[in-house]
Amino acid sequence: MTAITKVGVVGAGTMGSGIAHVFARSGFTVTLCDVEQRFLDRALGQIRTNLGREAAKGKLAEAEVEPALARITPTLDRATLAGAEIVVEAAPERLEMKAEIFIALDKILAPDAILATNTSSISVTRLAALTQRPGQVIGMHFFNPVPVMALVEVVRGMATTDATFETVHALARQLGKTPVEVNDAPGFVSNRVLMPLINEAAFAVMEGVATAEAVDEVFKLGMAHPMGPLTLADFIGLDVCVDIMRVLQEGFGDPKYRPCPLLVRMVDAGWLGRKTGRGFYHYEK
Ligand code: NAD
Repeated sequence: MTAITKVGVVGAGTMGSGIAHVFARSGFTVTLCDVEQRFLDRALGQIRTNLGREAAKGKLAEAEVEPALARITPTLDRATLAGAEIVVEAAPERLEMKAEIFIALDKILAPDAILATNTSSISVTRLAALTQRPGQVIGMHFFNPVPVMALVEVVRGMATTDATFETVHALARQLGKTPVEVNDAPGFVSNRVLMPLINEAAFAVMEGVATAEAVDEVFKLGMAHPMGPLTLADFIGLDVCVDIMRVLQEGFGDPKYRPCPLLVRMVDAGWLGRKTGRGFYHYEK
């Protein structure tokens, strides 16, 4: 098993910034790569704020904040990732984008480096097949917000070797996370189970069975969920929910995964949830 100290993160958005944060906090050297300086600046600002918040809560020594930040090198130049022993890709959920990144990184990284993806639904096996190192390609699926959520789904593609799996499993533990092993299949476990729940909750609202508030109350009070499925859908983004349902529908070829027409209409209307100020609920901008 390879001991990893140098990490690359591709994409400095919601997830990439969180992933860089947890690696840096745990003592790893991180190269964080994006396509525009403003995204890198925003990510570093966010990481600074979140590390400060952890220090204020006593989860991190105040003296650890600046050293953790100093371990992160932002870059617009992909070639800077060359020294990384693992790269976690957290670019947008579009196959053509991830494919381009995987093909490029495969050429840049050392032959024994690991290429991990934070994808929520794209096939790890398919990305691996684009590279000359399919055995060293794996899913490392973090949850939002990354510094807070304990789970990492470690997704084994068809070709992922045991050595790669064990390295990434151990790495997740070093980050203070709990890795759970899953095999590559549409939606893995998390979204395969969660998204049909959200979709069915939307059907219940569409059919007038209950209001969104009532559906959420049922899950909070009856099933001890910290938030109801429709509040969660607004948090994730209704567009993301519809996209993932389509991945499940296509991947399994089963009509039971068809996106709820109400969700599709809301997305058409631009009601995407928290990020647009309106979804199943209204939010202050
Ligand atoms: P995001 O849009 O917030 O961030 C993506 C970042 O990637 C942007 O800053 C963008 O500029 C950058 N980018 C685009 N092309 C790039 C390139 N070629 N090289 C480097 N950077 C590039 O997206 P996100 O929500 O952070 O999602 C990233 C990935 O994580 C997706 O695959 C998504 O499915 C997955 N994911 C998201 C969540 C979530 O709750 N947001 C949870 C788990 C997994």
